[in-house]
Amino acid sequence: MPTSHAATADRLDRAQRAVAEAGWEALLVSAGTDLRYLTGYHAHVSERLTCLVVPAQGAPLLVVPQLEAPMVQAAGVTTALHAWGETDDPFDVVATHLREIGAPGGVGISSRMWAEHVLALTSAIGATWELAGPLMAQLRMRKDDAEAAALLQAGQAIDRVHARMAEWLRPGRTEREVGRDIAEAIVTAGHEHVEFIIVGSGPNAASPHHLLSDRVIESGDMVVVDIGGVTEDGYCSDSTRTYLAGGQPTTEVLDFYAVLQAAQEAACRAVAPGVSAQAVDATARGIIAEAGYGANFIHRTGHGIGLDVHEDPYIVSGNDLPLEAGMAFSVEPGIYFAGRYGARIEDIVICTAGGVQRLNVGTRDLVTVDA
Ligand code: ZN
Ligand code: ZN
Repeated sequence: MPTSHAATADRLDRAQRAVAEAGWEALLVSAGTDLRYLTGYHAHVSERLTCLVVPAQGAPLLVVPQLEAPMVQAAGVTTALHAWGETDDPFDVVATHLREIGAPGGVGISSRMWAEHVLALTSAIGATWELAGPLMAQLRMRKDDAEAAALLQAGQAIDRVHARMAEWLRPGRTEREVGRDIAEAIVTAGHEHVEFIIVGSGPNAASPHHLLSDRVIESGDMVVVDIGGVTEDGYCSDSTRTYLAGGQPTTEVLDFYAVLQAAQEAACRAVAPGVSAQAVDATARGIIAEAGYGANFIHRTGHGIGLDVHEDPYIVSGNDLPLEAGMAFSVEPGIYFAGRYGARIEDIVICTAGGVQRLNVGTRDLVTVDA
C-alpha cells in the first residue's frame, strides 16, 4: 500500500512549519528514507542528485534526474518537479532555486547526504548548512496508525521466519547455508527484500554485529539469529531469538539466559508514555547487572525503527526523551562472553496511550533445534 497523499501532504506541511520554526530558509532532503517519508517517493541513492527543496514558505520543489522522472510520476508524487538533463548541473539548479527563495542563510541538509553532493552544493551556493537529522527525527519519531500497522505487518512476517528456524538451523550446516535459507524465507514471509541476516554460532554468538561466516555449527552451540527485512511500504522488521543447536544447556547457560529473559520482559513492561528512553535501558541493565553480568551487556538496549532499521529514539543511557504514544523501537538486551557464547532477545514494541504493544510475539525461550 503506497503512502497516501493525505499523509505526505500533512508531513510536508509539518516539515515546512518545522523549517520556519528553526529559522531556516529551506530544508534540502536527498534520496533516502527522509525523502520517502515526506513524498512517498523511493529514490535511487546514487551519484545523480535527487533533492527535495522544502522552503520555509512557498511550494516545495523536487529536483530529479530526467531519466528517473517517470518513477516520480508513477509514485503519484504531486510536488512540483524539476527534471534535470544528463549534462545539466543539478547543483546549480538547487542553488538558483535557493537564491530565489532567500538563501544564503540557514539551510537544513539531510544528515546522510553524500559528501560529494554537499561539497558541490557548497561551491554552487554559500549557504550556512545545518544538519537536518534532529528536525527530521522529530517529524518521524511518532508513528501514525498506518505506519504502526505497517510495522506490525513487518513484525508478524519476521515472526513467521523465526517460527520455521528448525527447518534450517542444525549442527553440521554453516552459518552461511542457514543464512541463505533464511533470506528466501524473509521474502516469502511478506518482505520486499532482506535487510540483514545475523547467524552467530558458538563464539560468534558473542559478537553482536556478526553477520554470516563459513563456520560449521556444532552440536551444543548457542546461535544468535537476528534478522530483518523491509516490506513493500518501506517499513522494517528486526527480531532476535537465540537457539541451542542440539545438546543440553549447561547450568551456566540456563542461569544467564533466565536473567536475560527477565531483563527483556521487564524492559518491555516498563514502556509507557512519560517514561524516559534511558529508564527503559536502566530497567534491562539493572536486572542484568544485579545478577553479575553487567560487564557482559555491551550495547544499548534498543533503537527506534520505521523506514530505517535504526532511527530515533535510541534506548540508551543519557537519552532523557520521554516516550510518547506512537514511538516504535526495539528492546534487545544481550549477554555476551567473548570467545565462548552469548545470547540476545529482541522484540519491536510501540508505546501506546495505554502502555505498550509488542509487535513480535514468538516464544522468547531458548529453543533447542537439532537434526
Ligand atoms: Zn536486530
Ligand atoms: Zn535491532
